[in-house]
Parts: sequence; C-alpha cells; structure tokens
Amino acid sequence: MSAGHNRIITIANQKGGVGKTTTAINLATALAAIGERVLIIDLDPQGNASTGLGIGRRDRKLSSYDLLLGESSVVEAALETAVPNLYIVPSTMDLLGVEMEIAQQSDRVFKLRRALTEASAGAFSYILLDCPPSFNLLTMNAMAAAHSILVPLQCEFFALEGLSQLLETVEQVRRSVNPALDIQGIVLTMFDARNNLSQQVVNDVRTHLGDKVYHTLIPRNVRVSEAPSYGKPAILYDLKCAGSQAYLQLASEVIQRERRRLAA
Ligand code: ADP
Ligand code: MG
Repeated sequence: MSAGHNRIITIANQKGGVGKTTTAINLATALAAIGERVLIIDLDPQGNASTGLGIGRRDRKLSSYDLLLGESSVVEAALETAVPNLYIVPSTMDLLGVEMEIAQQSDRVFKLRRALTEASAGAFSYILLDCPPSFNLLTMNAMAAAHSILVPLQCEFFALEGLSQLLETVEQVRRSVNPALDIQGIVLTMFDARNNLSQQVVNDVRTHLGDKVYHTLIPRNVRVSEAPSYGKPAILYDLKCAGSQAYLQLASEVIQRERRRLAA
C-alpha cells in the first residue's frame, strides 16, 4: 500500500462467538504476510486475541487499558508477535474497570481516537480493533476511532436480525461521534457447505447487502479452531487448510477495496 497509508478497521459484532477474534488474528496475519505493517488492539477483557497470538499474561505489562487511560502510547504498548510485521497491544482484565473509570469524563468515547492520532500510530498501515461482544463503551471507542467497520457474521438463523441491529448502531455512530465511519465489508464465517441453512443465510445476506458482502466465505474448519490453543494464527498453524486459505483471500479483498477507495 502507498506510503503513509494508515487504515483503522474495527472488527465488531455485538454477538459473541461469531468469529471476530479469529478474523482479527488471521486477517492481520495475512496482511502482514503481504508486507503490510499491522497492529491489533485487543479491546476485549477476555484477551482472546492476545492469547491466540501467544502473548502470556505476564508479558502484558502495558495494555489497551493503559492506552485508553492515556497512560501509554501505541508504540510503548505494542508487542511483537511471532508473525513478522504483526504487533499487538494486548488486553488484561483491567479493561473491565475502564467503563466505570471514564464514565464521568466528557471525552469518554474518544479515548482510543486520541491515542491513535499520535504520530507513532502512523507507523502501521493497518490497525485492527478486536471488540468485545457488546455495544459498550469499549466498542463505542473503537467505532469512534475507526475509519471503517468490518463485520464478521456467522452463517446461522438469526444472522440477519443481529446485522440490522448492528447497522442501526453504525448509523447512530455516524450521526453522533464519527460521521465518516465506512463499512469495509461483511464477512460470512463458519460457513458449512453441507448445511442448507448456511447457504440460505449467504443468499439472504447477499440479497439484502449486495456488494458490502465479501465474496470470500470463511468455512467452518477445525484447524482454525485448534490454532489458538497453540498460540498461533491458523495461517501459521496450518497454511494449507481451507480456513487459512480463505483468510488469505479475504485479505486480498480488503486490500482491493482499499485500493478502489484510494483511487476514487
Ligand atoms: P468472537 O471473537 O466473535 O467471540 P471467536 O473468533 O472467538 O469469536 O470464535 C468463536 C469460536 O469459534 C472460537 O472457539 C473459534 O476458535 C471458533 N471459530 C471461529 N471461526 C471458526 C471457523 N472458521 N471454523 C471453526 N471454528 C471457528
Ligand atoms: Mg472475541
């Protein structure tokens, strides 16, 4: 990507277990493998992105908590991962207290944006924000700081219902804290070709949202679910598996969309 390119993408969905963290880790790894300099910011107190990238609890001296409270800069808090070009600001359970600590402050929604507008954040061509499974203050900080939102959507019966809620929230965010928030795209996850419902969900979502939906379908793949227990992205754990290949394809779609946007 062009010099000075810096794109902040929040990976959000108020539902848990839909593939946010898996997408953050593997999309980030794929982008890093293509030569982008990538940072993940783990905004979930559960810390699954940090664990999934092999960052032990004891190594999390500075975290997204310190970033939000203005007690650390991005470069100070960013840790190297086993993936060249991929860094992470880990999370700790301290994040559970953030909401209370900043609730009374008038700039409470803009804490992350402030941290990411410092010069050092420009060292990364992509910054992916891994959100918790709710519309809380952490997710609002991510939506306020991001250029765009990428939505993982699990191929299941209630997918469209959850999606309309999410799109309504994006509208609210645009009206209030971030008028420029763009939809990078919607990625369908845990697709099971043998399941008619999975195919039905794909058709419905495509009918409603058209070209906002990536062509890439992320298949349900046991290798993808095993990888985090080894502290590795699926792409390092098993590059050839269908899930890893799908995430590489997703990365190239994300980059294509960025190129089109820059050209427009
Ligand atoms: P979220 O961050 O939205 O809560 P996760 O990415 O943690 O969701 O995924 C939820 C669970 O589903 C995890 O156990 C993860 O390993 C598993 N999972 C995610 N994507 C896939 C996939 N494509 N195939 C199989 N399992 C997956
Ligand atoms: Mg998660």
